[in-house]
Amino acid sequence: MPEQPTREIFLHLDPWMQGVFYAAAAIASAVFLYGFWKRWKKYRSGRKENRFDRLGQRVARAAVAILTNSTVRRGETFGGIAHGLILWGFIVLFIGTCIVAFDHDFLRFFGVKLLKGDFYLGFSLALDVFGVLFLAGLVMMIVRRAVLRPPALDYARADAQGGKVDRSGFVTDDMIFVWLLLVIGVTGYAVEGLRIAQTMPDFERWSPVGYALAGTVNGLAADTLFDAHLWSWWIHGIAVFGFIAYIPFSKMMHIFTDAANLVFTNEGAARALPPPPEGSVGYATVADFTWKELLDFDACTKCGRCHVSCPANAAGTTLSPRDVILDLRTFANDALGTPELLKQRFRAGSKWPASANGDVDVAADVIRPETLWSCTTCMACMEQCPVGIEHLTSIVQLRRRLVDRGKLDDNLQGALMSLGDYGNSFGQSPKKRAKWTKGLSFKVKDARKEPVELLWFVGDFASYDPRIQDLSRQVAEVFHAAGVDFGILYDAERNAGNDVRRVGEEGLFEMLAEENAKALGDAEFQEIVTTDPHTLNALRNEYPALGVEHPTHHYTGVLAKLIADGKLDLSRKLGHRVTYHDPCYLARYNGEVDAPREVMRALGLDLVDMPRCGVNTFCCGAGGGRIWMDTSNEVKRTSEQRIEEALALGGVRYFVTACPKDYTMYSDAVKTLGKEADIEVKDLIELVAEALGEPS
Ligand code: SF4
Ligand code: SF4
Repeated sequence: MPEQPTREIFLHLDPWMQGVFYAAAAIASAVFLYGFWKRWKKYRSGRKENRFDRLGQRVARAAVAILTNSTVRRGETFGGIAHGLILWGFIVLFIGTCIVAFDHDFLRFFGVKLLKGDFYLGFSLALDVFGVLFLAGLVMMIVRRAVLRPPALDYARADAQGGKVDRSGFVTDDMIFVWLLLVIGVTGYAVEGLRIAQTMPDFERWSPVGYALAGTVNGLAADTLFDAHLWSWWIHGIAVFGFIAYIPFSKMMHIFTDAANLVFTNEGAARALPPPPEGSVGYATVADFTWKELLDFDACTKCGRCHVSCPANAAGTTLSPRDVILDLRTFANDALGTPELLKQRFRAGSKWPASANGDVDVAADVIRPETLWSCTTCMACMEQCPVGIEHLTSIVQLRRRLVDRGKLDDNLQGALMSLGDYGNSFGQSPKKRAKWTKGLSFKVKDARKEPVELLWFVGDFASYDPRIQDLSRQVAEVFHAAGVDFGILYDAERNAGNDVRRVGEEGLFEMLAEENAKALGDAEFQEIVTTDPHTLNALRNEYPALGVEHPTHHYTGVLAKLIADGKLDLSRKLGHRVTYHDPCYLARYNGEVDAPREVMRALGLDLVDMPRCGVNTFCCGAGGGRIWMDTSNEVKRTSEQRIEEALALGGVRYFVTACPKDYTMYSDAVKTLGKEADIEVKDLIELVAEALGEPS
């Protein structure tokens, strides 16, 4: 009778050895549970926030993201493949180990055995194949870190502090992670090969790797094989138990924290910011952070994607979203007594972050104010983060504290005062808000006095900045030519407050929003249009929480529809070679990347995109109130870097924008770079007007 395919689990292990094995398993599990409990306690101490709405959807979304590895793969091919191989290898090996344990430690007491016959053969094959994938992924990961060394994995802080912060612990932790898994994988094959080599049963060909290894050593003496098998068995076991015990104190914990973070992340968190904590203005102590924020800090795997995509970091300021998260993690762990073995350490003389002991104000002593003020709120960090961390909402909560304590620069202070006094950042009378309409060939309707289909919420820059006023007139002329029934709010309009909210001036935001809500309530219209993506975001995403909800469009979407409906005669094709800058608040915040391109196609433009385009756009540096601040801490302005990116495309005549702030920032950048002869900044409306034969 042929031998029944199966294996003996504790081959050659004396009963006392098996006892030691179970004792070690119990100790490793106890250490794991202790660490896990400390983490749990930490999250329980966080401020309450309801993230349990639509729980089924949340779990399904996270499960798809994890199992398809989609968020890790996005924009990172080599690292993404490596992570996918490790992930799936780990999942299958983990399930395999659970089956072995269930079979041996439970079913056998009922006289049942799973691991035999055909099931055993299929099981052996699956584990061998996925084991190879697992090891391949680990080797790729080691090559990525040791040889390829992408800038994202450089742990040097944006806030260098003269090298007084020691982050070597992070590197050691990374290495322990990959090498420990590698040891587990390799010794697993060694155990298998040495077991098979002792008898070489034919059915073990279903374990192709183990069988091949066995074939290389089965000429050795029986005693040698016996000892080698025993030793490799123990090394494998110790590595596995070490891994289990180490998880909650290390990067390995991301297996749990990242899965949870992907469940509880709110993708729209930055589009509509959370309110300040009840009874306080912004964050001052560790108690102000929500449990989700404490989870965010732990979920960071230091992949560095936010770090390399952050415009503030690229500009050479002290801000790196990765470093903000890691500093807050260190602070929270110290303040709450959560153990973390290999963390960053601060040498004497390092000023930030302050020690968690003592009277610490997070928004000044842990994250330096200059760092917080450097954020353009572009949301690139959140878009890039593969594990759903919400950097931006924490940064704004900390900014609220700075505003409350008066820790803001004079320029910003001045702009906020103008906004409070006049409802615009230019410090001009509301009566002058519609002055730009003078010189138009027709009178723009006052939507408070007569009904209109489209209410144009003009915004501050388009109303008051002399460079943008001309663009506003061109928009009005084009709408008029297309027969659009539109009107404006004249002196009743106020700054929509999008950037005021992101600066952290919550009270002023509420005041502006209330005044706008009243003006909108006094007007009769069907939909809203704006040329300003920041205004678009406030009206579309922030105002609904205040009970003000209207369909709101960016003018590029309106233009695309007018063209599709045949209301604009664009038979004259322009043919210019252009590139287009996707505004952060249009593309990333509101997902609108197609409409401007449809318009450019209709204009017959030769559009060539920059490497960073669409939702992967690169900020001009004006958002989040930066346009009102002293930006002398920037070593190289992002607007200049962006113009250079466009110039590198070669032969681009126009740098096209669709945002008043972009137009201002990039026009200045072209001048400061001295590139006026090489490239010209155009708003999309200028090209539409040119095609229509309007003066550009
Ligand atoms: S929002 Fe933009 S500027 Fe601010 S931290 Fe994130 S990537 Fe950097
Ligand atoms: S915050 Fe997210 S993107 Fe940034 S380093 Fe951490 S895991 Fe990566």
